[in-house]
Amino acid sequence: MASSDRVAIITGGANGIGKACSRRLSEDGFKVVIADVDKESGLELADELGAAKERALFVTCDVSDRLSVSNLLAETRSAFERIDVLVNNAGIVAKGDILDLSEADFDRVMGVNLKGFFLVAREVSRQMVDQIKEAGERHDDARRRYSIINMSSVNAVMAIPDQLAYCATKGAIDQMTKSMALALAPHGVRVNAIGPGSINTDVLKAVNDDKAAMDKIMSRTPLQRIGDPDEIAAVASFLASRDASYITGSTIYADGGRMALNYTVPID
Ligand code: NAD
Repeated sequence: MASSDRVAIITGGANGIGKACSRRLSEDGFKVVIADVDKESGLELADELGAAKERALFVTCDVSDRLSVSNLLAETRSAFERIDVLVNNAGIVAKGDILDLSEADFDRVMGVNLKGFFLVAREVSRQMVDQIKEAGERHDDARRRYSIINMSSVNAVMAIPDQLAYCATKGAIDQMTKSMALALAPHGVRVNAIGPGSINTDVLKAVNDDKAAMDKIMSRTPLQRIGDPDEIAAVASFLASRDASYITGSTIYADGGRMALNYTVPID
């Protein structure tokens, strides 16, 4: 199958890291499905990536809602007939530590970052397995094509006190990635995660204007700079490609060396 016939869904694909992944996979030759709650940005990006030539599609989707996710799959099948790659990326944050995090904020973050990842991954996995069975594909062939990429974080391993819900979901995503990889390996679907460090998106905009906060991030980042969304998209491109055909169940940390740093600094 030509790479131009392959189809990728990117959740949260309208902004930030997801937008960079949508652009990069489109450049790689994928037809891209941008799934997001931000309709305006999503439609604009789909236009840029060739919606008119049936190379891109925007679908309004709230990943935390099962019916909305079912609709995403239905729209994808109707437009492009198949799915080869998922970048499971839509994520949110909510400030709060164990003393003050509200139940509503805990549920909201769990709903998008954990249940949302599960709902999309489950629908996509079922579709991929059906395709593999229908085509009678040999596992060797399938392994080189089907790839699910979960957007984790360094916070899967390193904790922030006032981001309890976010850290909990990212830790869970690393384990979900391994469990999914084991279940889907016999079918030939690879499942991996990316763990970004501090990347220049809306989430970091507040910090960009705050010198003290920026200094704190730099003191913990050996490469001494914030990452660019394109540098995460490049990892997604690799994991989606045949070059990654023997990699499954892994998390690749793209964090400027942060996870390797082994000394402590004050938390305030
Ligand atoms: P962002 O806020 O720039 O983009 C997130 C996108 O997800 C937006 O387009 C938003 O509309 C969409 N979205 C939010 N809720 C949604 C929902 N319920 N359904 C569908 N789409 C929804 O954030 P980002 O920084 O690009 O983060 C993307 C992913 O990368 C997240 O999973 C985040 O945890 C992870 N990450 C980011 C960083 C960073 O420094 N920026 C670091 C580590 C991990």
